[in-house]
Amino acid sequence: MARRLRVAVVGSGPAGLYCAQILTEDADRDVTVDVFERLPTPFGLVRYGVAPDHQKIKSIVASLAETFESPRVRFLGNVTVGSDVTIEELRARYDAVVLASGAPLDRRLGVAGEDLTGVLAARNFVSWYSGHPDADFDTSLLDVERAMVIGVGNVALDVARMLVRTPDELRRTDVPEHVIEVLAGHAVREMLVVGRRGPQFAKFTNKELVELAAVDSADVIVAPEELLLPEAEQARVAAQPAVKRLLASLQKIAGREPYGRDRRIRFLFDRTPVEFLGDTTVTAARLARTTDPTIVEDLDTGLILPAVGYRSTALSGVPFDDSSGTIPHRDSRVLDRDAQVSGLYVVGWAKRGPSGVIGTNRLCASETVAAVLEDAATLLERDRPDEPIDTLLQARGVTVIDWHRWQLIEAAEARLGAEHGRDRVKLYDRELMLTAAGVGGTPAS
Ligand SMILES: Cc1cc2nc3c(=O)[nH]c(=O)nc-3n(C[C@H](O)[C@H](O)[C@H](O)COP(=O)(O)OP(=O)(O)OC[C@H]3O[C@@H](n4cnc5c(N)ncnc54)[C@H](O)[C@@H]3O)c2cc1C
Repeated sequence: MARRLRVAVVGSGPAGLYCAQILTEDADRDVTVDVFERLPTPFGLVRYGVAPDHQKIKSIVASLAETFESPRVRFLGNVTVGSDVTIEELRARYDAVVLASGAPLDRRLGVAGEDLTGVLAARNFVSWYSGHPDADFDTSLLDVERAMVIGVGNVALDVARMLVRTPDELRRTDVPEHVIEVLAGHAVREMLVVGRRGPQFAKFTNKELVELAAVDSADVIVAPEELLLPEAEQARVAAQPAVKRLLASLQKIAGREPYGRDRRIRFLFDRTPVEFLGDTTVTAARLARTTDPTIVEDLDTGLILPAVGYRSTALSGVPFDDSSGTIPHRDSRVLDRDAQVSGLYVVGWAKRGPSGVIGTNRLCASETVAAVLEDAATLLERDRPDEPIDTLLQARGVTVIDWHRWQLIEAAEARLGAEHGRDRVKLYDRELMLTAAGVGGTPAS
Protein backbone atom coordinates (compact mmCIF):
# COMPACT_ATOMS: atom_id res chain seq x y z
CA MET A 1 0.00 0.00 0.00
CA ALA A 2 1.27 3.43 -0.88
CA ARG A 3 0.20 5.08 2.33
CA ARG A 4 -1.80 4.26 5.41
CA LEU A 5 -5.44 3.31 4.84
CA ARG A 6 -7.65 5.47 7.02
CA VAL A 7 -11.03 4.03 7.93
CA ALA A 8 -13.93 5.62 9.80
CA VAL A 9 -16.48 3.30 11.41
CA VAL A 10 -19.86 4.82 12.34
CA GLY A 11 -21.21 3.00 15.39
CA SER A 12 -19.47 1.09 18.19
CA GLY A 13 -21.82 -1.87 18.48
CA PRO A 14 -20.46 -5.36 17.85
CA ALA A 15 -20.57 -4.96 14.06
CA GLY A 16 -18.46 -1.79 14.07
CA LEU A 17 -16.00 -3.08 16.64
CA TYR A 18 -15.56 -6.42 14.88
CA CYS A 19 -14.73 -4.44 11.73
CA ALA A 20 -12.13 -2.39 13.58
CA GLN A 21 -10.68 -5.56 15.12
CA ILE A 22 -10.40 -7.44 11.86
CA LEU A 23 -9.01 -4.44 10.00
CA THR A 24 -6.18 -4.03 12.50
CA GLU A 25 -5.50 -7.63 13.54
CA ASP A 26 -2.65 -7.99 11.05
CA ALA A 27 0.26 -5.98 12.45
CA ASP A 28 1.76 -5.64 8.97
CA ARG A 29 -1.32 -4.02 7.50
CA ASP A 30 -1.00 -0.24 7.57
CA VAL A 31 -4.51 0.72 8.65
CA THR A 32 -5.93 3.09 11.25
CA VAL A 33 -9.55 3.09 12.36
CA ASP A 34 -11.56 5.83 14.06
CA VAL A 35 -14.79 4.54 15.60
CA PHE A 36 -17.48 7.23 15.90
CA GLU A 37 -20.28 6.70 18.40
CA ARG A 38 -23.17 9.02 19.12
CA LEU A 39 -23.34 7.94 22.78
CA PRO A 40 -20.58 8.57 25.33
CA THR A 41 -20.52 4.77 25.79
CA PRO A 42 -19.40 1.98 23.44
CA PHE A 43 -20.90 -1.46 22.64
CA GLY A 44 -24.30 -0.51 21.17
CA LEU A 45 -27.01 -3.04 21.95
CA VAL A 46 -24.69 -5.22 23.97
CA ARG A 47 -24.94 -2.47 26.58
CA TYR A 48 -28.44 -1.25 25.79
CA GLY A 49 -30.30 -4.26 24.38
CA VAL A 50 -29.01 -7.56 25.72
CA ALA A 51 -30.99 -8.17 28.90
CA PRO A 52 -29.20 -7.14 32.11
CA ASP A 53 -29.76 -10.58 33.65
CA HIS A 54 -27.82 -12.11 30.75
CA GLN A 55 -24.47 -11.08 32.21
CA LYS A 56 -22.72 -14.01 30.57
CA ILE A 57 -23.64 -12.75 27.10
CA LYS A 58 -22.78 -9.23 28.16
CA SER A 59 -19.31 -10.36 29.16
CA ILE A 60 -18.54 -10.24 25.44
CA VAL A 61 -17.78 -6.55 26.05
CA ALA A 62 -14.40 -7.64 27.42
CA SER A 63 -13.36 -9.00 24.03
CA LEU A 64 -14.98 -6.07 22.20
CA ALA A 65 -13.01 -3.66 24.42
CA GLU A 66 -9.77 -5.33 23.31
CA THR A 67 -10.32 -3.56 19.98
CA PHE A 68 -9.02 -0.39 21.61
CA GLU A 69 -5.86 -1.99 22.91
CA SER A 70 -4.48 -1.44 19.44
CA PRO A 71 -2.91 2.02 19.16
CA ARG A 72 -4.31 2.08 15.62
CA VAL A 73 -7.94 2.18 16.77
CA ARG A 74 -9.50 5.23 18.39
CA PHE A 75 -12.89 5.70 20.07
CA LEU A 76 -14.66 8.98 19.36
CA GLY A 77 -17.71 8.77 21.57
CA ASN A 78 -20.40 11.42 21.99
CA VAL A 79 -20.10 12.29 18.29
CA THR A 80 -23.22 11.94 16.17
CA VAL A 81 -22.50 11.36 12.52
CA GLY A 82 -25.08 13.31 10.59
CA SER A 83 -25.16 16.29 12.94
CA ASP A 84 -21.78 16.79 14.69
CA VAL A 85 -20.03 15.72 11.54
CA THR A 86 -21.50 14.78 8.17
CA ILE A 87 -20.91 11.69 6.11
CA GLU A 88 -19.43 13.91 3.38
CA GLU A 89 -16.92 15.31 5.88
CA LEU A 90 -15.92 11.80 6.87
CA ARG A 91 -15.67 10.68 3.27
CA ALA A 92 -13.40 13.64 2.53
CA ARG A 93 -11.02 12.66 5.33
CA TYR A 94 -11.08 8.87 5.34
CA ASP A 95 -10.38 6.41 2.56
CA ALA A 96 -13.28 4.24 3.64
CA VAL A 97 -16.33 4.87 5.81
CA VAL A 98 -18.08 1.83 7.27
CA LEU A 99 -21.65 2.35 8.44
CA ALA A 100 -22.30 0.24 11.54
CA SER A 101 -25.14 2.33 12.91
CA GLY A 102 -27.51 -0.54 13.69
CA ALA A 103 -31.30 -0.48 13.49
CA PRO A 104 -32.48 2.03 16.08
CA LEU A 105 -36.11 2.40 14.95
CA ASP A 106 -39.08 0.14 15.50
CA ARG A 107 -41.14 -1.72 12.98
CA ARG A 108 -44.78 -0.80 13.29
CA LEU A 109 -47.66 -3.22 13.46
CA GLY A 110 -49.97 -1.14 11.28
CA VAL A 111 -52.87 -1.63 13.67
CA ALA A 112 -55.55 0.98 14.43
CA GLY A 113 -54.90 2.55 17.82
CA GLU A 114 -51.15 2.00 17.64
CA ASP A 115 -50.54 5.62 18.62
CA LEU A 116 -52.64 5.54 21.79
CA THR A 117 -50.87 6.26 25.07
CA GLY A 118 -49.86 2.94 26.56
CA VAL A 119 -48.91 1.40 23.24
CA LEU A 120 -45.19 1.72 22.71
CA ALA A 121 -42.44 -0.33 21.22
CA ALA A 122 -40.76 -2.79 23.56
CA ARG A 123 -37.50 -0.98 22.76
CA ASN A 124 -38.65 1.90 24.98
CA PHE A 125 -38.97 -0.41 27.97
CA VAL A 126 -35.71 -2.20 27.11
CA SER A 127 -33.85 1.13 26.80
CA TRP A 128 -35.26 2.26 30.12
CA TYR A 129 -34.26 -0.82 32.12
CA SER A 130 -30.89 -0.80 30.32
CA GLY A 131 -30.20 2.77 31.48
CA HIS A 132 -29.98 4.23 27.95
CA PRO A 133 -29.42 7.99 28.27
CA ASP A 134 -32.16 8.73 25.71
CA ALA A 135 -34.71 6.29 27.17
CA ASP A 136 -38.20 7.66 27.21
CA PHE A 137 -40.46 5.37 29.21
CA ASP A 138 -43.19 6.66 31.49
CA THR A 139 -43.03 4.25 34.43
CA SER A 140 -46.61 5.08 35.45
CA LEU A 141 -47.57 2.87 32.50
CA LEU A 142 -46.67 -0.05 34.74
CA ASP A 143 -49.56 0.86 37.06
CA VAL A 144 -51.78 -1.59 35.23
CA GLU A 145 -53.00 -5.04 36.14
CA ARG A 146 -52.35 -6.57 32.72
CA ALA A 147 -49.69 -5.81 30.13
CA MET A 148 -49.16 -7.37 26.74
CA VAL A 149 -46.10 -7.91 24.63
CA ILE A 150 -46.79 -8.55 20.97
CA GLY A 151 -44.26 -10.75 19.26
CA VAL A 152 -42.71 -14.09 20.09
CA GLY A 153 -39.01 -13.48 19.64
CA ASN A 154 -36.28 -13.41 22.29
CA VAL A 155 -36.87 -9.69 22.92
CA ALA A 156 -40.49 -10.46 23.94
CA LEU A 157 -39.23 -13.04 26.43
CA ASP A 158 -36.58 -10.62 27.75
CA VAL A 159 -39.31 -8.07 28.42
CA ALA A 160 -41.59 -10.58 30.14
CA ARG A 161 -38.75 -11.97 32.25
CA MET A 162 -37.44 -8.55 33.28
CA LEU A 163 -40.93 -7.60 34.47
CA VAL A 164 -40.92 -10.45 36.97
CA ARG A 165 -37.30 -10.37 38.12
CA THR A 166 -37.01 -9.88 41.89
CA PRO A 167 -34.98 -7.03 43.41
CA ASP A 168 -32.39 -9.56 44.59
CA GLU A 169 -31.96 -10.86 41.06
CA LEU A 170 -31.78 -7.35 39.67
CA ARG A 171 -29.18 -6.31 42.18
CA ARG A 172 -26.85 -8.88 40.61
CA THR A 173 -27.06 -6.92 37.35
CA ASP A 174 -25.91 -3.40 36.53
CA VAL A 175 -29.37 -1.82 36.12
CA PRO A 176 -29.77 1.60 37.72
CA GLU A 177 -31.23 1.72 41.23
CA HIS A 178 -34.43 3.50 40.14
CA VAL A 179 -35.12 0.65 37.73
CA ILE A 180 -34.93 -1.88 40.56
CA GLU A 181 -37.28 0.27 42.64
CA VAL A 182 -39.90 0.45 39.89
CA LEU A 183 -39.62 -3.21 38.91
CA ALA A 184 -39.93 -4.26 42.54
CA GLY A 185 -43.20 -2.46 43.03
CA HIS A 186 -45.07 -2.32 39.73
CA ALA A 187 -48.72 -3.32 39.48
CA VAL A 188 -48.58 -5.70 36.51
CA ARG A 189 -49.95 -9.07 37.58
CA GLU A 190 -50.44 -10.65 34.19
CA MET A 191 -48.18 -10.36 31.18
CA LEU A 192 -49.56 -11.75 27.95
CA VAL A 193 -47.09 -12.80 25.27
CA VAL A 194 -48.99 -12.77 22.00
CA GLY A 195 -47.91 -14.50 18.78
CA ARG A 196 -49.59 -13.98 15.44
CA ARG A 197 -48.98 -17.49 14.22
CA GLY A 198 -49.03 -20.89 15.86
CA PRO A 199 -46.43 -21.97 18.44
CA GLN A 200 -44.48 -23.86 15.75
CA PHE A 201 -43.50 -20.48 14.30
CA ALA A 202 -42.32 -18.91 17.55
CA LYS A 203 -38.99 -17.17 17.04
CA PHE A 204 -37.66 -17.36 20.58
CA THR A 205 -35.01 -19.95 21.29
CA ASN A 206 -35.60 -22.96 23.47
CA LYS A 207 -32.86 -21.74 25.80
CA GLU A 208 -34.72 -18.47 26.45
CA LEU A 209 -38.02 -20.30 26.93
CA VAL A 210 -36.54 -22.75 29.43
CA GLU A 211 -34.97 -19.84 31.31
CA LEU A 212 -38.30 -18.04 31.47
CA ALA A 213 -40.12 -21.18 32.58
CA ALA A 214 -37.67 -21.48 35.47
CA VAL A 215 -38.38 -18.07 37.05
CA ASP A 216 -39.69 -18.54 40.56
CA SER A 217 -41.39 -15.17 40.83
CA ALA A 218 -44.21 -15.89 38.36
CA ASP A 219 -46.35 -18.64 36.93
CA VAL A 220 -45.58 -19.22 33.27
CA ILE A 221 -48.76 -20.48 31.64
CA VAL A 222 -49.52 -22.05 28.27
CA ALA A 223 -53.03 -23.47 27.87
CA PRO A 224 -52.83 -26.90 26.18
CA GLU A 225 -55.26 -25.77 23.45
CA GLU A 226 -52.75 -23.09 22.40
CA LEU A 227 -50.48 -25.91 21.24
CA LEU A 228 -52.90 -27.86 19.05
CA LEU A 229 -51.42 -28.06 15.57
CA PRO A 230 -53.24 -28.72 12.30
CA GLU A 231 -52.40 -32.20 11.00
CA ALA A 232 -50.55 -30.84 7.99
CA GLU A 233 -48.24 -28.94 10.34
CA GLN A 234 -47.39 -31.94 12.48
CA ALA A 235 -45.31 -33.64 9.78
CA ARG A 236 -43.46 -30.40 9.05
CA VAL A 237 -42.66 -29.93 12.72
CA ALA A 238 -41.51 -33.53 13.08
CA ALA A 239 -38.84 -32.84 10.47
CA GLN A 240 -37.46 -29.82 12.32
CA PRO A 241 -35.58 -30.77 15.48
CA ALA A 242 -35.30 -27.19 16.81
CA VAL A 243 -39.06 -26.62 16.45
CA LYS A 244 -39.77 -30.01 17.97
CA ARG A 245 -37.65 -29.13 20.98
CA LEU A 246 -39.38 -25.80 21.40
CA LEU A 247 -42.82 -27.40 21.21
CA ALA A 248 -41.78 -30.04 23.70
CA SER A 249 -40.78 -27.29 26.14
CA LEU A 250 -44.08 -25.49 25.60
CA GLN A 251 -45.92 -28.80 26.18
CA LYS A 252 -44.02 -29.29 29.39
CA ILE A 253 -45.05 -25.84 30.59
CA ALA A 254 -48.65 -26.53 29.54
CA GLY A 255 -48.64 -29.72 31.62
CA ARG A 256 -47.59 -27.95 34.83
CA GLU A 257 -50.02 -26.99 37.55
CA PRO A 258 -49.74 -23.23 38.23
CA TYR A 259 -48.10 -22.51 41.59
CA GLY A 260 -50.55 -19.69 42.35
CA ARG A 261 -47.81 -17.07 42.29
CA ASP A 262 -48.49 -13.38 42.46
CA ARG A 263 -47.56 -12.73 38.83
CA ARG A 264 -48.35 -14.65 35.63
CA ILE A 265 -46.85 -14.76 32.16
CA ARG A 266 -49.31 -16.27 29.72
CA PHE A 267 -48.68 -17.23 26.10
CA LEU A 268 -51.32 -16.75 23.44
CA PHE A 269 -50.69 -18.02 19.91
CA ASP A 270 -52.59 -17.66 16.64
CA ARG A 271 -53.78 -14.15 17.60
CA THR A 272 -53.60 -11.17 15.27
CA PRO A 273 -54.03 -7.75 16.87
CA VAL A 274 -56.70 -6.01 14.82
CA GLU A 275 -57.25 -2.90 16.90
CA PHE A 276 -56.15 -1.26 20.11
CA LEU A 277 -59.12 0.27 21.88
CA GLY A 278 -59.28 3.41 23.97
CA ASP A 279 -59.93 7.10 23.83
CA THR A 280 -56.50 8.61 24.26
CA THR A 281 -55.07 5.81 26.38
CA VAL A 282 -55.30 2.15 25.47
CA THR A 283 -57.78 0.14 27.51
CA ALA A 284 -57.99 -3.11 25.53
CA ALA A 285 -56.58 -5.04 22.62
CA ARG A 286 -58.84 -6.65 20.06
CA LEU A 287 -57.31 -9.89 18.88
CA ALA A 288 -58.60 -12.18 16.14
CA ARG A 289 -57.65 -15.79 15.59
CA THR A 290 -55.24 -15.72 12.69
CA THR A 291 -56.53 -19.03 11.35
CA ASP A 292 -60.17 -18.06 11.92
CA PRO A 293 -60.68 -14.28 11.94
CA THR A 294 -64.34 -14.67 12.92
CA ILE A 295 -63.19 -15.48 16.44
CA VAL A 296 -62.45 -12.14 18.06
CA GLU A 297 -61.73 -11.28 21.69
CA ASP A 298 -61.16 -7.98 23.52
CA LEU A 299 -58.62 -8.24 26.30
CA ASP A 300 -58.33 -5.45 28.85
CA THR A 301 -54.87 -4.00 29.09
CA GLY A 302 -53.27 -0.63 29.72
CA LEU A 303 -49.82 -1.37 28.35
CA ILE A 304 -49.01 -2.93 24.98
CA LEU A 305 -45.38 -3.41 24.00
CA PRO A 306 -44.98 -4.50 20.38
CA ALA A 307 -41.69 -6.39 19.97
CA VAL A 308 -41.88 -7.04 16.26
CA GLY A 309 -38.47 -5.98 15.06
CA TYR A 310 -36.26 -3.04 14.31
CA ARG A 311 -35.33 -1.01 11.29
CA SER A 312 -32.41 1.15 10.45
CA THR A 313 -32.72 4.87 9.91
CA ALA A 314 -31.74 7.06 6.99
CA LEU A 315 -28.48 8.93 7.58
CA SER A 316 -28.19 12.18 5.68
CA GLY A 317 -26.08 11.58 2.59
CA VAL A 318 -26.54 7.81 2.69
CA PRO A 319 -28.91 5.84 0.44
CA PHE A 320 -31.67 4.02 2.30
CA ASP A 321 -34.08 1.29 1.35
CA ASP A 322 -37.30 2.19 3.07
CA SER A 323 -39.02 -1.10 2.32
CA SER A 324 -36.40 -3.26 4.02
CA GLY A 325 -35.38 -0.61 6.55
CA THR A 326 -31.70 -1.19 5.72
CA ILE A 327 -28.88 0.50 3.80
CA PRO A 328 -28.76 -1.00 0.28
CA HIS A 329 -25.52 -2.73 -0.61
CA ARG A 330 -23.86 -5.25 -2.87
CA ASP A 331 -21.22 -7.35 -1.10
CA SER A 332 -21.20 -4.74 1.72
CA ARG A 333 -20.54 -1.84 -0.71
CA VAL A 334 -23.25 0.80 -0.36
CA LEU A 335 -25.35 1.26 -3.46
CA ASP A 336 -27.07 4.36 -4.73
CA ARG A 337 -29.64 3.15 -7.24
CA ASP A 338 -27.46 0.23 -8.24
CA ALA A 339 -24.25 2.28 -8.49
CA GLN A 340 -21.60 1.71 -5.88
CA VAL A 341 -20.83 4.73 -3.66
CA SER A 342 -17.06 4.85 -3.64
CA GLY A 343 -15.51 4.28 -0.22
CA LEU A 344 -18.82 3.68 1.59
CA TYR A 345 -19.53 0.31 3.23
CA VAL A 346 -22.09 -1.15 5.59
CA VAL A 347 -22.10 -3.84 8.27
CA GLY A 348 -24.28 -5.37 10.99
CA TRP A 349 -27.95 -4.62 11.50
CA ALA A 350 -27.76 -1.56 9.23
CA LYS A 351 -26.83 -4.00 6.46
CA ARG A 352 -28.76 -7.18 7.29
CA GLY A 353 -31.66 -5.90 9.34
CA PRO A 354 -32.27 -7.14 12.89
CA SER A 355 -31.28 -10.78 12.66
CA GLY A 356 -28.80 -13.19 14.16
CA VAL A 357 -26.88 -13.25 17.37
CA ILE A 358 -23.92 -11.09 18.34
CA GLY A 359 -21.47 -13.52 16.72
CA THR A 360 -23.31 -13.20 13.39
CA ASN A 361 -21.96 -9.66 13.23
CA ARG A 362 -18.41 -10.98 13.28
CA LEU A 363 -18.95 -12.97 10.12
CA CYS A 364 -20.76 -9.99 8.62
CA ALA A 365 -17.81 -7.76 9.58
CA SER A 366 -15.29 -10.07 7.94
CA GLU A 367 -17.24 -9.77 4.68
CA THR A 368 -17.30 -6.00 4.95
CA VAL A 369 -13.60 -5.80 5.76
CA ALA A 370 -12.84 -8.09 2.83
CA ALA A 371 -14.62 -5.60 0.53
CA VAL A 372 -12.71 -2.65 2.01
CA LEU A 373 -9.36 -4.40 1.61
CA GLU A 374 -10.19 -5.54 -1.90
CA ASP A 375 -10.87 -1.91 -2.84
CA ALA A 376 -7.92 -0.50 -0.86
CA ALA A 377 -5.59 0.04 -3.79
CA THR A 378 -8.21 2.07 -5.66
CA LEU A 379 -9.24 3.97 -2.52
CA LEU A 380 -5.64 4.96 -1.88
CA GLU A 381 -5.27 6.37 -5.37
CA ARG A 382 -7.48 9.24 -4.37
CA ASP A 383 -5.56 12.11 -2.85
CA ARG A 384 -6.92 12.91 0.57
CA PRO A 385 -5.97 15.96 2.62
CA ASP A 386 -4.46 15.03 5.95
CA GLU A 387 -6.88 17.14 7.99
CA PRO A 388 -7.53 15.37 11.26
CA ILE A 389 -11.18 15.13 12.14
CA ASP A 390 -10.25 16.25 15.64
CA THR A 391 -9.63 19.81 14.45
CA LEU A 392 -13.08 19.98 12.89
CA LEU A 393 -14.80 18.53 15.98
CA GLN A 394 -12.90 20.87 18.25
CA ALA A 395 -13.85 23.90 16.15
CA ARG A 396 -17.50 22.84 16.48
CA GLY A 397 -17.24 22.49 20.23
CA VAL A 398 -18.01 18.77 20.15
CA THR A 399 -16.98 17.07 23.38
CA VAL A 400 -15.34 13.84 22.34
CA ILE A 401 -15.29 10.93 24.77
CA ASP A 402 -12.17 8.98 23.94
CA TRP A 403 -11.34 5.53 25.29
CA HIS A 404 -9.63 6.89 28.40
CA ARG A 405 -12.65 9.05 29.21
CA TRP A 406 -14.95 6.05 28.70
CA GLN A 407 -12.82 4.17 31.21
CA LEU A 408 -13.43 7.00 33.68
CA ILE A 409 -17.18 6.47 33.16
CA GLU A 410 -16.69 2.76 33.78
CA ALA A 411 -14.75 3.50 36.95
CA ALA A 412 -17.55 5.80 38.16
CA GLU A 413 -20.05 2.98 37.52
CA ALA A 414 -17.93 0.61 39.58
CA ARG A 415 -17.76 3.18 42.40
CA LEU A 416 -21.52 3.66 42.28
CA GLY A 417 -21.90 -0.11 42.40
CA ALA A 418 -19.68 -0.31 45.49
CA GLU A 419 -21.81 2.37 47.20
CA HIS A 420 -24.84 0.13 46.73
CA GLY A 421 -23.10 -3.14 47.52
CA ARG A 422 -23.24 -4.14 43.87
CA ASP A 423 -20.54 -4.88 41.31
CA ARG A 424 -21.51 -2.06 39.05
CA VAL A 425 -24.41 0.35 38.57
CA LYS A 426 -24.89 2.00 35.21
CA LEU A 427 -24.91 5.76 34.86
CA TYR A 428 -27.98 6.57 32.81
CA ASP A 429 -27.82 10.32 32.55
CA ARG A 430 -25.71 11.79 29.77
CA GLU A 431 -24.60 14.77 31.90
CA LEU A 432 -23.52 12.48 34.72
CA MET A 433 -21.58 10.40 32.22
CA LEU A 434 -19.80 13.47 30.88
CA THR A 435 -19.05 14.63 34.41
CA ALA A 436 -17.64 11.22 35.26
CA ALA A 437 -15.54 11.43 32.11
CA GLY A 438 -14.09 14.69 33.33
CA VAL A 439 -15.69 16.85 30.66
CA GLY A 440 -18.96 17.77 32.36
CA GLY A 441 -19.64 20.31 35.11
CA THR A 442 -17.57 18.59 37.81
CA PRO A 443 -14.29 17.04 36.73
CA ALA A 444 -13.80 13.39 37.68
CA SER A 445 -11.29 12.67 40.37
C1 LIG B 1 -33.47 -6.10 23.09
C2 LIG B 1 -32.36 -6.87 22.41
C3 LIG B 1 -31.79 -7.96 23.06
C4 LIG B 1 -30.79 -8.68 22.44
N1 LIG B 1 -30.26 -9.74 23.09
C5 LIG B 1 -29.30 -10.49 22.50
C6 LIG B 1 -28.75 -11.61 23.18
O1 LIG B 1 -29.13 -11.93 24.31
N2 LIG B 1 -27.79 -12.32 22.53
C7 LIG B 1 -27.35 -11.99 21.28
O2 LIG B 1 -26.49 -12.67 20.72
N3 LIG B 1 -27.85 -10.92 20.63
C8 LIG B 1 -28.81 -10.17 21.21
N4 LIG B 1 -29.33 -9.10 20.54
C9 LIG B 1 -28.82 -8.78 19.19
C10 LIG B 1 -27.51 -7.96 19.19
O3 LIG B 1 -27.62 -6.95 20.15
C11 LIG B 1 -27.27 -7.41 17.78
O4 LIG B 1 -26.99 -8.52 16.93
C12 LIG B 1 -26.10 -6.44 17.67
O5 LIG B 1 -26.07 -5.50 18.72
C13 LIG B 1 -26.16 -5.68 16.33
O6 LIG B 1 -24.95 -5.00 16.19
P1 LIG B 1 -24.76 -3.64 15.39
O7 LIG B 1 -23.36 -3.23 15.69
O8 LIG B 1 -25.16 -3.83 13.99
O9 LIG B 1 -25.81 -2.61 16.01
P2 LIG B 1 -25.88 -1.91 17.43
O10 LIG B 1 -25.46 -2.83 18.51
O11 LIG B 1 -27.23 -1.31 17.53
O12 LIG B 1 -24.80 -0.73 17.37
C14 LIG B 1 -25.00 0.42 16.58
C15 LIG B 1 -24.26 1.58 17.24
O13 LIG B 1 -24.26 2.68 16.33
C16 LIG B 1 -24.47 3.88 17.05
N5 LIG B 1 -24.98 4.90 16.13
C17 LIG B 1 -26.18 4.89 15.49
N6 LIG B 1 -26.31 5.97 14.72
C18 LIG B 1 -25.16 6.69 14.84
C19 LIG B 1 -24.71 7.91 14.30
N7 LIG B 1 -25.46 8.64 13.46
N8 LIG B 1 -23.50 8.36 14.66
C20 LIG B 1 -22.71 7.65 15.52
N9 LIG B 1 -23.10 6.48 16.07
C21 LIG B 1 -24.31 6.00 15.75
C22 LIG B 1 -25.48 3.46 18.11
O14 LIG B 1 -25.53 4.37 19.20
C23 LIG B 1 -24.95 2.10 18.50
O15 LIG B 1 -24.02 2.18 19.55
C24 LIG B 1 -30.33 -8.34 21.14
C25 LIG B 1 -30.91 -7.24 20.50
C26 LIG B 1 -31.92 -6.52 21.12
C27 LIG B 1 -32.52 -5.36 20.41
